[in-house]
Amino acid sequence: MASVYRFVDDCEDKSLLGNKGANLVIMTKLGLPVPPGFVVSIEAYVAYKGSRHLPTHDIDSALEWLEKETGGKLGDGLLVSVRSSAAVSMPGMMDTVLNIKDKASMMSAIKKVLDSWDNLRAVEYRRLNRIPSDMGTAAIVQAMVMGNKDKRSGTGVIFTRNPSTGEPGIFGEYMNQAQGEDLVSGTKTPGPVSDLRSAMPKVYAKLEEAAQKLETHFQDMQDVEFTVESGKLYVLQTRSGKRSGQAAVRIAVDMVNQGLITREEAVMRVKAEELKALLHKRIKSPEEHAPLAHGLNAAPGAACGKVSFKIGEVVRMAEKSERVILVRPDTSPDDIQGIAAADGVLTSRGGLTSHAAIVTRAMGKPCICGAEEIKIDLDAEQFEVAGHVVKKGMEITIDGTTGNVYLGSLPLEEADVTAEVAELLSWADGFRRLGVRANADTAEMIRLAKTFGCEGVGLCRTERQFNAPERLSAIRAFIMASTAAERMEALERLRQLQKEDFVAIFRELQGMPIIIRLLDLPLHEFLPSEADTPDPRVKERVRELREINPMIGHRGVRLGVTNPEIYQMQVEAIGEAKAEVEQEMPVNVSVMVPQVITVQELLWVKKHVKGSGLRFGVMMETVRACMRAGKLIHVADFFSFGTNDLTQAVYSFSREDAEKKFLGTYLRLGILQDNPFEVIDVKGVGRLMETAVFWARRNRRDLEIGVCGEHGGEARSVAYFHTIGVNYVSCSAFRIPVARLVAAQAAIEEKMEKTPAAISSP
Ligand code: PEP
Ligand code: MG
Repeated sequence: MASVYRFVDDCEDKSLLGNKGANLVIMTKLGLPVPPGFVVSIEAYVAYKGSRHLPTHDIDSALEWLEKETGGKLGDGLLVSVRSSAAVSMPGMMDTVLNIKDKASMMSAIKKVLDSWDNLRAVEYRRLNRIPSDMGTAAIVQAMVMGNKDKRSGTGVIFTRNPSTGEPGIFGEYMNQAQGEDLVSGTKTPGPVSDLRSAMPKVYAKLEEAAQKLETHFQDMQDVEFTVESGKLYVLQTRSGKRSGQAAVRIAVDMVNQGLITREEAVMRVKAEELKALLHKRIKSPEEHAPLAHGLNAAPGAACGKVSFKIGEVVRMAEKSERVILVRPDTSPDDIQGIAAADGVLTSRGGLTSHAAIVTRAMGKPCICGAEEIKIDLDAEQFEVAGHVVKKGMEITIDGTTGNVYLGSLPLEEADVTAEVAELLSWADGFRRLGVRANADTAEMIRLAKTFGCEGVGLCRTERQFNAPERLSAIRAFIMASTAAERMEALERLRQLQKEDFVAIFRELQGMPIIIRLLDLPLHEFLPSEADTPDPRVKERVRELREINPMIGHRGVRLGVTNPEIYQMQVEAIGEAKAEVEQEMPVNVSVMVPQVITVQELLWVKKHVKGSGLRFGVMMETVRACMRAGKLIHVADFFSFGTNDLTQAVYSFSREDAEKKFLGTYLRLGILQDNPFEVIDVKGVGRLMETAVFWARRNRRDLEIGVCGEHGGEARSVAYFHTIGVNYVSCSAFRIPVARLVAAQAAIEEKMEKTPAAISSP
């Protein structure tokens, strides 16, 4: 037969039979009880489209065979159904014709199904899912079995494993005396498939056997439709089953242990999104609740608690074990205690690299940023949104994974870092080439990052260590000092405090590498706002330090050059801490200089930070540094890309303002496809990075290059960083598992395609 294939014919080609058709052939071959039938192929569809003629001769002889096979005649002991079967799944988009009793209706039904490839629904579905419109569909003609024939009949759908937990064993629904349509339409409520076990144990055993066979063949969890007719089981359809993140991991690991798939396959099967969802608390059935407002999904996970607008109050409430959500227009280093005490943070301003976003992500706390619709009145201690007034003390729920805010306290589900997750990630570690380090600023954060499997710290932001009140007052004393003696005294205090921090950090690391970044914050950020201070001296200093564009102002190495004593103090503190801890264990510490644009800056810093013997690296976060990479390697021991500032620079978008002002509109209008502060912009920022990597490695093949911007923990970005040949990514603790998984997937993909990693070129 040229363009019509019987299920018993030796053809499993999806491009001819479509998905469903090919699976029916496979199931028939496996010896499963499939009602017999045949496929009018995609080849026939193509001919029909041009000529409007069907291969009637082939269809007639297939029908003749079908009648012989079933012992009936069409309309007399044999009814057939006609369904579509495309090579890509388009669920429910095309037509189905049931209960066909005569040849004429069967001709016309086949045409109807083939023509439905072009119905509006299908066309729209293809457009949305970018499915080519010229692929076409096959039509399946199959003997019907009747789940409503008698008391020993019924129909059901099972998964071969539990799709929400991954537990082995069939799981699903069964309805006695019903047809598939009754199940799908929801007109009757089915019972659990165990009903079938009690009613017809033999049939149930056959179903279990079929499930096993299908899994072994497809090497994946299956979603199977079946019908029982007068006590006889028929399998109607199978496909890979949809599953939760938890199930995806458990199934992948179990299947390796059962010898069904390899470790590489298991690593490839779990999606970054699935793993991410697993590592945080989540709202139970979020679809049952209407959100009150929406903002940027800045740090994943869900939290509920009473609304509070005041830092002191948040701290007091947390001390009484009350759950609390801190709501502020934005946050600053001053708010750190409140953020630490809160269960989650909601801001009406600021983007994905704002203070609130970075700090909460590092703490593993849910956060929604830039929820512009929320109008916060700090004096009245309330916010207004969509006609609701939410006063302090009222309960809300925030979902930092989606950016949705809800009124009231919704039920939450715990995160699951199961033994299976740990096992899967340990396999991933065996495949990846990219190192995965943590962005962590304190010993506690490092402890947490270690539980997620970090291999060191790629970025320790020292300005974060000044956040605690004692430290904040020390740095303020330095900024406000009016005499050299006062200045020296304040610096000495800071040196001691920093040393204590570094000692604790080195001990926690136990010899793992750490890159400490010298101070990178405009000084005015350490002072209260002008309005918040009654002290006229402080007011004046705030005014003096104020800048129009602080993000591109007096920060980073620029501050190091004008105030070398700060960097000097930091390097001394690091050196002393290193000497102390080295009495007990090895210390592997390097120092990194932020915001560099030229070799001269590095030489200046090196001169003023003499004799430390520490490795010196450059943060590659200005456009000029990337363009001068070939020169910077002569002074630097390593590079680390700061993709947050680099994105800001390449786009000329302020990372503090862009998301709250116009990025949302850009994304909605499709002017930009992705938020560049979230997903690395391969074509712009990436090009610049590739240029820098090329010029650096041209002269120093073995130069260590990392990425420590927020992109280092985002799945698509990590896959890209693998291809440009950097040595490691560094990200906040809770994003480490995703980075480990994706780095492995990128390496496996590269091996499968057998192409070498994209060699970067300018
Ligand atoms: C960066 O700019 O990418 C970076 C990691 O530094 P920060 O976010 O502290 O500016
Ligand atoms: Mg930076």
